[in-house]
Amino acid sequence: MLQLLTAFCAIKFHKCGNSRAMDLSPILKHETCANCKICCVFKPESLIYVPKEIEVKKQEDGMFACIHRCENAGCTLEKNKPTECAAWPFSISKRGGKLLLVLEHSCPELNKRERFNEVKKFALENVAPKLLEYSRKNTGTLREHNSKNQILDYYI
Ligand code: SF4
Ligand code: SF4
Repeated sequence: MLQLLTAFCAIKFHKCGNSRAMDLSPILKHETCANCKICCVFKPESLIYVPKEIEVKKQEDGMFACIHRCENAGCTLEKNKPTECAAWPFSISKRGGKLLLVLEHSCPELNKRERFNEVKKFALENVAPKLLEYSRKNTGTLREHNSKNQILDYYI
């Protein structure tokens, strides 16, 4: 059923064509995100962090939803997501002169206490190298560190 819904939604949207995507599926299932979708809606003050490859539309509640967010099936871009989306809820932020690999506090699935060791190991081995390289080349994507987020590693 989910695949059918995804196909239905996908015909309404174009693809970003981004080949730098990371695969978080071993720790985060598409179905989990399709039921959540928290990170595909932005507050007005967070619009500066919207990946440049996507567009958002204002909702009646004043928030801005990504046009690739399907109400029934989550993200329709799958492997063509922008790099920031593919890595999310992991990101690189800056504090002082250092870069930090962080886990966004608002993700309910990967912030489960019992999953911390598994999630951190996966992030360090599979996400950090590509995301760090991307962030160093695209410094405009770096956010100031939010102390609510879990720091997983430090880099010079
Ligand atoms: S907050 Fe976490 S579980 Fe929810 S859609 Fe984003 S990455 Fe998926
Ligand atoms: S591209 Fe996909 S993951 Fe990224 S904000 Fe849009 S719907 Fe969410």
